[in-house]
This record gives sequence, structure tokens and C-alpha cells, in this order.
Amino acid sequence: MKRDEIIAADKEHIASTYARADVVLDHGEGATLYDKSGKVYIDCATGIGVNCFGVNDPVWKEAVVGQINKIQHICNLYYSEPQAELAALLCEKTGAKRVFFANSGAEANECAIKTARKYSYDKYGEGRYEIITLKDSFHGRTMATITATGQEEFHKYFMPFLDGIKYAEPSMAGIRKARTAKTCAIMIEVIQGESGVNVLDGDFLKDLDKYCKANDILLICDEVQSGNGRTGYLYAYEAFGLHPDIVTTAKALAGGLPLGACMMFGKCAGTLGPGDHGTTFGGNPVACAGAVSIISRIDRDLLLEIQGKGAYFAENIKHIKNVVSVSGMGLMIGIETTKPAGEVVKACAEKGLIALTAHTKVRLLPPFNIRKDEIDEALKILNEVISA
Ligand SMILES: *Cc1c(COP(=O)(O)O)cnc(C)c1O
Repeated sequence: MKRDEIIAADKEHIASTYARADVVLDHGEGATLYDKSGKVYIDCATGIGVNCFGVNDPVWKEAVVGQINKIQHICNLYYSEPQAELAALLCEKTGAKRVFFANSGAEANECAIKTARKYSYDKYGEGRYEIITLKDSFHGRTMATITATGQEEFHKYFMPFLDGIKYAEPSMAGIRKARTAKTCAIMIEVIQGESGVNVLDGDFLKDLDKYCKANDILLICDEVQSGNGRTGYLYAYEAFGLHPDIVTTAKALAGGLPLGACMMFGKCAGTLGPGDHGTTFGGNPVACAGAVSIISRIDRDLLLEIQGKGAYFAENIKHIKNVVSVSGMGLMIGIETTKPAGEVVKACAEKGLIALTAHTKVRLLPPFNIRKDEIDEALKILNEVISA
């Protein structure tokens, strides 16, 4: 199909839930992408933080194709080597005790919500089911996870929403106000991605960690976006010395294939039993084989490289005219400018840079292996667009 035919067919037949940019990406190598007409782009979006080793990564491809050549799907009623290997790897690297594999971030969070409620039910009986989430959080698009998302704009049309979710300001005063005798868990994003790449206050996070432990309230860290090396830490909570009971992740986990994980630490490792939860596709062997190739390569050297590249981006963006502030950690970068973020992102695409918005900010989620010359090209375009 030609570019214009693709766009026409899409507009006619695909549910119009996305305000798509006028770009038809076709192929690429690392952080360099090409559209249907051969135009070159530097990729600072990675399909919303998914293609963490860029596109066409040879190591990832070998792992994925190798698994495709063996078996493409095994239902969860049988054992699967890539799943077992990935779960062991995640537990070894994080200290988690058990992992449930899902297909997406929202589903990983669904599992976290169910686990928290069952943990509390098993221990305290009925009624202790409330989950506190934070203002400006984003946890997904399913009914439970849009309810958990602490942004008014998501709470239209689809009522009634899930019962037992409360929203708190990101402060201990806010948490104390929202907490009741029914509170069983608090779910946070250490770095709020969708709402503007806002890093939560470190003292608040440490106090929250202690408060949760003291009150047997489960701390759930949603690391769907911030996880898997993105911030220069394997998971961003590590940067604050937190001890979550549940960590969810997805996006970059399988390097480009759909996979979510809900990692359960000591307290709730045994909470879910046979029949309590399940999925047909979750933990698909091809996705898990891809994830093993991603997670096994996120070592200390790579994390330091991500921190270094992130610092280089931030340092050079800070000085661009019309930039108000730069937020984030590692290669998860938010840019506040005096211009509407959507317009900046659109102008960047015209000049050959794929970026994202995050609420009112411009957001960059480049691949970990982006080269120095690609970073400099991205910075040049950002400079031209933002300072204009
Ligand atoms: C993207 C995202 C989700 C939802 O993940 P999906 O794979 O789109 O379901 C949940 N939480 C956070 C923090 C995210 O960034």
C-alpha cells in the first residue's frame, strides 16, 4: 500500500481513538527510523518507551526468531522455558519472589489490584479493599485502571467506575487524609510519566514506604513506563531505596513485544493461588524470549550509560531558549517550554525527530543505544523548534 492509501484505509476503518501524526513509519535501525517515502527520523519515542534497544536490534531478533522457530504459543496450563527463565531473572535482579505475566501495563496493574485485595481479604477478611492512588497518576485504560488513574479527564462517560479507589495529593498529609481503616494498598508511579514526567519527592517516597510497612498497607510501584532501565536504574524505585510489595511493568520489558509483569515481593508472594487469576496470552514464549534478551543485558555498565546520556540530553536542553524546565531521570525526559507541547512535537516530526507529549510537556524516551551523533541531531532539531 502507498502512504496515502494507508492513511485513507486507517481513517475509514480503524476506531478513531488516536490523534495520529501524519507519519507512516516503515523500518529502521537503532534510533534511526524511515517512513514510507524514505524520510529519516531520529527516534526519541521508542513507541512510547517500548523499543528500548531501538528497532531491528540483532540480539533481540535472534532471541525472538529462535523462539518462533521452536513454538509460538503455549497456554498457561503447561510449563514454558522462556517464562521460567524470565521470571527467575526478574526475581534474581529485584528480590521479588513471584511473577505473574500479563500482556500489557494495564493488565499488570489489574493483577496488582487483585493481589492487594486478596492479600487483605486473606488476612483481615471482607471490607478492607480500598486502594489509594495519586493525583495526576496514570495506570492504564481498562475499567479498573482508568478508575485508578488520578486524573479527572479519564473519569467521564464510562461510569460507574470501580468502587474503592481513592485519590491523594502526593504528600504524607494527602495520604493520611485519604487513608481509612479500609485501605489495603497505595499505588504510585515514582515518576509520573503520562502527566508530565514528574519525579515524586524523595522524602515523601521514603516516608510513604515506612508508613505502608507500619500499617500493613501494600506499596505498589507502577513501573510500566519507568522500569527496565529507562531511568538509569533497573526500576526507578531503587533510586529512592523503596521496598515495594508489588512492582508492575510492561512497555520496554520485551523490547517491542506485548508483555506485562506483576512482581510480588515477600508479603504477597503466596497470595494468588490456582484459579485466582489468569490470561491466555500473558507470558507468551516469544515475548518472554525477547524479554530475557532485554533484561539480561541491563547491567551496571548500561545503567551508567543511560544516566550519562540522560544527563547530556538534560544539560543541553536546559539552555535552549523558551525551555522553562527539564524533568525526569535517565532517558525519561520531560521538557516544559513556553509553547504548546503538541505543536513542538509536530514541528519536530516535520524536521525528522519523533518525540512525545506528556500532558503539557514534551517527552523524550529515546532508545538506550542511541548514538552520540543521533543525540546531537535530536538536540539540534529540538533547539531549532523550541527556540524559534
Ligand atoms: C503506559 C502505562 C500504563 C498502561 O500500559 P498499557 O500497556 O498501555 O496498558 C500503565 N501505567 C503507566 C505508568 C504507564 O505509563
